[in-house]
Amino acid sequence: GKVLVSGANGFIASWVVRGLLEEGFAVRGAVRSIEKGVHLRKLFASYGDKFELIVVPDIAEEGAFDEAVRGVDAIEHIASPVHLHAGEPDDLIIPAVQGTVGMLKSAMKYGKSVKRVVMTSSCAAVLQVEPEPKIFTELDWNTQSPREVVEMGRDAPAITKYRASKALAERAAWDFVEQHKAEIDWDFVTINPPYVFGPTIHDTPTPESLNDTTKIFHTMLTQPASPDKLQTGNSWVDVRDLARAHVLVLLTVQAGGGRFLISAGEYVWQDWLDAAPDSPKLQKGVPGAGKDAVHFLCYDASKAARVLGMTAYRSMVETARDVTADWEARGW
Ligand code: NDP
Repeated sequence: GKVLVSGANGFIASWVVRGLLEEGFAVRGAVRSIEKGVHLRKLFASYGDKFELIVVPDIAEEGAFDEAVRGVDAIEHIASPVHLHAGEPDDLIIPAVQGTVGMLKSAMKYGKSVKRVVMTSSCAAVLQVEPEPKIFTELDWNTQSPREVVEMGRDAPAITKYRASKALAERAAWDFVEQHKAEIDWDFVTINPPYVFGPTIHDTPTPESLNDTTKIFHTMLTQPASPDKLQTGNSWVDVRDLARAHVLVLLTVQAGGGRFLISAGEYVWQDWLDAAPDSPKLQKGVPGAGKDAVHFLCYDASKAARVLGMTAYRSMVETARDVTADWEARGW
C-alpha cells in the first residue's frame, strides 16, 4: 500500500518515512516547497519510485490536501508547527487545527482508497499541570492550555500556546470523525508522544538547524546549566521507537479508533548527562543528582504495549550514545 506522510521533511516524519519504506510501503511525502524535498530525495534515493513527493504550500488553506490524498491507502498526518517562539496563539493554533481538519476533509472527499488516518498528536493534548505528580492515560485531555490561551492571549507562555495548538487540533479531529462517521470509510488513530529525542536524518547541517526538541537536547548536553535547571525534565521517547509505533498502527487492525501514549519514561536533564558517554564536549553536572527527582508528568504506555506490541523502548544510554555519535560524525 501507499501512505501519505505530511510534513515529511521534519525530524519525526523523516524517520517515519524511512520506517514505512523499510516495511515495504510506498510513501508520498508532502512538503511545503520543492526545496524542502531535495534532501529527502537524496536520503530515500535507494527506494526508487517507492518514494514520491508532493508540494502542499499551505496546510491551513481550504482543500490543501485534496490532490495529495488521492490513491493512498493510509495517511500519517505529522505536519504541525513545533516552536516555542509564537507571538499570537493563532500562529500555532490555526495551522495545527485547520491543517488537521483539512486533512480529514480531503480524505473524506477524495481519499476513496484510504483505510486509516493517523495523526501525530502529543502528550501536550493529554497533560495538565497539576500540584501533584500524576500518571496520565489515554483518557486524559488537556483542557487547561486552551483555557489559558483564551484568558492570556499573546501573554500566555510559549509552551502553553504549543500545548493548546495540539490539544485543540486533536479535539477537532475526533469531533470531525464523530460528526462525519456516516460519510467516512476510514478509521482514525492518534499517537501521543512526550518529548522526542534521538539522532536526526532530516536536513540538519548545523546544531542551529536542528528542530526545537533536538536543539534543546543538544544545548542541555553541551552547554553549562544551573543545578536547578538540571533537575527539570519531562517524559521522553526515542524518535526511532516513535517511528516504529507509526508503522505498527498501520499493521494493527484493532488499533482503529484508538489514542496511544508512546513513552519510554521520565527524565531530568542530569539523568541524560549521566547516561551520555564520557566526552570533554559534554557537561557533567552533578552525577547521580537526578535519581531522587520527583516526576510530575508521567505516562502509562501499557495500551500501546498491549494493542500495538510496543513493549520495548530504547534506554537513555542507547539514545545518548547514538545521538552523541551522530554529532561526532558531523564534526560538532
Ligand atoms: P519538525 O519541526 O521537525 O517538523 C514539523 C513539520 O511540520 C515540518 O515538516 C514542517 O514543515 C511542518 N510544518 C510546520 N508548520 C507548518 C505549516 N504552517 N504549514 C505546513 N507545514 C508545517 O518537528 P517534529 O518532527 O518534532 O514534529 C512533528 C510532529 O510531531 C508535530 O505534529 C509535533 O506536534 C509532534 N510532536 C513532536 C514532539 C517532539 O518532541 N518533537 C512531541 C510530541 C508531538 P517546514 O519544515 O516546512 O517548516
